[in-house]
Amino acid sequence: MRKKDKIELKKLLNHIDGRGYKAYKDIKGIYDFGSFILIIDHVQSDPFAPPSLIQVRVNQKDASFPKDLISNKSRKVAFSDFLVREIYKKISLFSKGRRGTGKSGLITIDKGGQEIIERTAVIIEEDFIEARLGIGLPAFGRKISAKDAYAIFFEELPKIIKNSLFSNMIDLKRLSDHVNISEDQDFLRNKLSNLNLVAFIGENSILPRRSGIDDRPMEKNVIPFLPPLELMVEVVLSHQGKIRGMGIPKGVTLIVGGGFHGKSTLLNAIQKGIYNHIPNDGREFVVTDKNAVKIRAEDGRYIEKVNISPFISNLPFNKPTNRFSTQNASGSTSQAANIIEAIEMGTSLLLIDEDSSATNFMVRDKRMQELVKKEKEPITPFIDKVKTLYKDYGVSTILVMGGSGDYFDVADEVILMDHYKPIRVTDKAKKIAKNFPIHRKNEGGEVFGKIDYRTPKLESFHPKRGKKEVKIDAKGLSHIIFGITDIDLSYVEQLVDPSQTKAIGWIIYRYAKFLKKEKKSLKDGISEIMHEIDEKGLDILMPYKAGNLAKPRIFEVAAAINRMRTLKVE
Ligand code: ADP
Ligand code: MG
Repeated sequence: MRKKDKIELKKLLNHIDGRGYKAYKDIKGIYDFGSFILIIDHVQSDPFAPPSLIQVRVNQKDASFPKDLISNKSRKVAFSDFLVREIYKKISLFSKGRRGTGKSGLITIDKGGQEIIERTAVIIEEDFIEARLGIGLPAFGRKISAKDAYAIFFEELPKIIKNSLFSNMIDLKRLSDHVNISEDQDFLRNKLSNLNLVAFIGENSILPRRSGIDDRPMEKNVIPFLPPLELMVEVVLSHQGKIRGMGIPKGVTLIVGGGFHGKSTLLNAIQKGIYNHIPNDGREFVVTDKNAVKIRAEDGRYIEKVNISPFISNLPFNKPTNRFSTQNASGSTSQAANIIEAIEMGTSLLLIDEDSSATNFMVRDKRMQELVKKEKEPITPFIDKVKTLYKDYGVSTILVMGGSGDYFDVADEVILMDHYKPIRVTDKAKKIAKNFPIHRKNEGGEVFGKIDYRTPKLESFHPKRGKKEVKIDAKGLSHIIFGITDIDLSYVEQLVDPSQTKAIGWIIYRYAKFLKKEKKSLKDGISEIMHEIDEKGLDILMPYKAGNLAKPRIFEVAAAINRMRTLKVE
C-alpha cells in the first residue's frame, strides 16, 4: 500500500465528518507522521464494537534504545513488555478517554497483569518497533465526529508515542532493571533442574496477593518469606548477583500446617512461578519448574478416552478405565484425568492442594482398607502412586496437606507453615511416622502404569459458526468460543491472561488444520506449533494482525482441547 502524508488523513476526516459510521472505512491506509508511521488497516463497524486496531511503527534508529535490550529472546520479551506498560501509562496521561457513543474516544493497549509474557501488543523487529493499539473511533450516535478523531490522531496519539517509544523520553535505568530482572528469572528457572530443584522461593518474597481479584502484592501486615536454613539455597544471578531462598528439591514434598497459616498462599505463588514477574511484584524470585502443572478436582468436566487405569480400575459393570470417557466426571475421576493428561503433555511437577482435591482420591486409610476391600474400591489413592510417579516418570509432587499424616511415609521433604513462616520438619515427621505406624497397605503396585499418547479426530473441531467460517473468541480468562463449542477453562488455574486464552483458541484452530494433513498426537502437534511460535512469533496464529495475543503453555492448550465437549480421540 502507498504511504500517504498525514495531511491526507486530515482531509479524509474532514470529508467524512457527520456522515454514517461506515464511512470510517475510508481512512484505512498508511500515513507518515514523520517520527512514526500510522497504519490503519482494520476499522470497527460501529461505535460499540471492539476498538479499531491501529499500528504505530517507529524506526529502531530513531527510537535508539540500547542494543543489549534485544540481545536474546528473554530480554526482547521483557523489553517489549516494558514498552507496552509504558504506552499504557502514557495513554492514561494523554488520552482524554471516552467521549461520544459506545467506545468512542478510547485508546487501549493489551497491558497484561503482574506477569511478563510474550505478547503481540508491541512487536520488536530488527529495524522497527511496532505498537498495536485500539482506537474507539469517535461518533455521536452513528454520526462520525471528525473533531474528536482529529484530536486522537493528531494530538493524543503523537504525545503517547513520543513519550513511550523513544529512548530519550524513557527512564533507561528502570527499563534495564525490568529487562534484567526478567532475564534473571528465566536463567534461574532454566537452572533449577541442575540444582536438583523444582522450585525456588527467594528470601523476603511477598507471596500473598491483595485479593482474589487483585493480583498485586498485599500491602498491610504482610510477613515476608523467611526460608528455613536447612533448605536455604544460594544462587548467583547475572544481574541481581547473589540471592538466597528456599529450594524445594525434586521428589515428593509435603506442605503441612494449621489452617490459615499460609499453605495455599505458598502453593499459589509456586504455581505462578512458571511466569516471570514484574519488578516490585514480590514474586520476582519465586521461580518454578516451567513444566509444573496445578492439579485439582473438577467434577462435571468432560473426559475423552483417557487412560486413568493407574488410579481407577474395576469400575462397576466393567466400564473400561484404560480409555475412560465421560460427560460428567466425578471429583476423583476428574483429578485422575487431570494428572494423566498433564503427564501425557510432559509435566515434571504436580502441584496439589487439599483445598481443591477429592478426599477419596488423596487418601484411603487403614480402617477404610479393612472395611472396604481393595476389590470393591476402584480408586487407587494418590498416596500409593506418588512415589512410582517420580521413580518411573521423574514427575515430582508438591502437596499441601494439613489433614492426613499418612503422607509422612511417602514424603521426601515436609515443610510446616507456621504463621506464614516455613519450617523444615522432615525429620520430625519421619520420626512420628516410625513411632506411630499406620500399617496401611500400599495399593499402588510396583509401577505407576502406562501413559498413552492420544490423537484427536479431525471431526472434533468445528470452527464454523453460523455464517462465519471461523469463529474464535475468548470470553475473559475462562471461556473460549470455538465455533459451536464453548470451552470452560474456569479450573485451569495457571492461565493468567485473557490474551493467552484467545491465543489458545487460535492454536487449536491451527492444530485442527494440521490434522487435516497428518495425524499428529496432541503432544507432538501442539509442541510443533509452540516451536513455530517461538521462532516466528504469535502473529502466525491469526489471518490478520492482532494486538491482544499472549503466549500460553502447551499444558493450557492441551487442557482446553481436553475440555472440548466435541473432542473425539482416535
Ligand atoms: P492455609 O492454606 O494454610 O489455610 P492461606 O494460604 O489460605 O492458609 O492463608 C490464609 C490467609 O493468610 C490468607 O487470607 C492470606 O492472604 C493470608 N496470608 C498468607 N500469607 C501471608 C503472609 N506472608 N503475610 C500476611 N498474610 C498472609
Ligand atoms: Mg489452604
